Amino acid sequence: MTSTDKGPWTSDISASDIWTATILSIQPQMFPGPLGESLCGRALREKLWALHSVDIRGFATDKHRTVDDTPAGGGPGMVLRADVLAKAIDQTIAKSDEQNPLIYMSPRGKPLTQKRAHKLATGPGVTILCGRFEGVDQRLLEARNIEEISIGDYVLSGGEIAAMVLIDSVVRLLPGVIGSADSLDSESHENGLLEYPHYTKPRQWEGREIPAILLSGNHGKIEKWRAQQARELTKSRRPDMWARFKDRN
Ligand code: SAH
Repeated sequence: MTSTDKGPWTSDISASDIWTATILSIQPQMFPGPLGESLCGRALREKLWALHSVDIRGFATDKHRTVDDTPAGGGPGMVLRADVLAKAIDQTIAKSDEQNPLIYMSPRGKPLTQKRAHKLATGPGVTILCGRFEGVDQRLLEARNIEEISIGDYVLSGGEIAAMVLIDSVVRLLPGVIGSADSLDSESHENGLLEYPHYTKPRQWEGREIPAILLSGNHGKIEKWRAQQARELTKSRRPDMWARFKDRN
């Protein structure tokens, strides 16, 4: 089968046993992009997860492959059409036969959190709609019950980079992707705190020493020092997190 036989799908998206991210975008060539490199890229090649991208334009009905139109009520920019997006979503879901949560990357969405990344990592995967221009027709979000997730309080030009952020945060939590699962436990946002500071050789650099406690070999003391550092950092940098942490502990 040649890639053109696959239609708007870049790969065979039938159901698989591995965690699968399916992206719907008008810029599908942006994938895998950075997700094909380093940790996520190696895991992708090792089939610890799978990635499919779908070209929304492949579902347009006119010869110009139109996917957007002017906003009802006037105003600047263009809006992605509900009919074209629905066709792309429905046909992709039918073909993949996966029960993935359906997410629209959006600055109006619920903020992405480490907790959500863990939850997504325990599921079968995720199907993500990437917006462009002014966004997507509201009726589509309601009719297909699509959850909106934001990666932060700023506006990007498209949902693709946001989708990559979400996928990266999940993939590194999948079994086997990071060598030592221990290294995940103390990370920032895992336990409601920011992580303690790290040091490595050389022992002295530009007149600065590694804190002596870290070279003492006393693991009990090191652990205590790190816990204290994590609390202090969180208190000074993220009073919002600190207040929540204190409430819970
Ligand atoms: N007019 C919209 C912004 C459109 S930005 C508004 O004011 O809410 C174009 C696309 O980029 C969006 O459809 C969305 O998919 C993506 N995007 C922009 N900022 C984002 C963010 N903070 N998180 C996730 N996706 C974002």
